[in-house]
Amino acid sequence: MVKLHPDLPPLPLRPRAWQWLQWYGVRVVVKDPHSTRGGGLWWPDKKLVELETAQEEAAIHELAHAWWEEQRKNPSVRATFSQMVKRLSQETDPRFRRAAEIAYVYEHGDPNTGFKGMFQPDGTIIDWEQYAGLASAVMGRPALLPPYIRGFYTELFDYSDEGN
Ligand SMILES: [Zn+2]
Repeated sequence: MVKLHPDLPPLPLRPRAWQWLQWYGVRVVVKDPHSTRGGGLWWPDKKLVELETAQEEAAIHELAHAWWEEQRKNPSVRATFSQMVKRLSQETDPRFRRAAEIAYVYEHGDPNTGFKGMFQPDGTIIDWEQYAGLASAVMGRPALLPPYIRGFYTELFDYSDEGN
């Protein structure tokens, strides 16, 4: 766990990952520390995590974006990751149900909301939202992901205080 900003609760990041993010130039801003309504943005050019509120889920999501920014520059890393999201969408192990449901929506969309899936109109996979979306869906707990995709998260998130 890392207390990386005075307005945020301790977050399940590995201290080494937070050190790396700081070295990379990432800054975190919390606009309204008195609210936990959520919302935020990752600004790649400014390397800025801009959080609307002090919500933990949003902080995990935007920090995952910051981490993935460099990882995804390797085409085989992001292609393998998205293949594993597809596999996760077919996962039947009940331990990973929450993550599997999210991955299913990423692959197939959601007729109830009109969401078309994590694809751009030209068919490009929106891997950065897959990555950050799964991070916040499991609240930074890699144990809630099956082994074939867990490894994409274990350098970023702490694994030691897992309750499974
Ligand atoms: Zn996002």
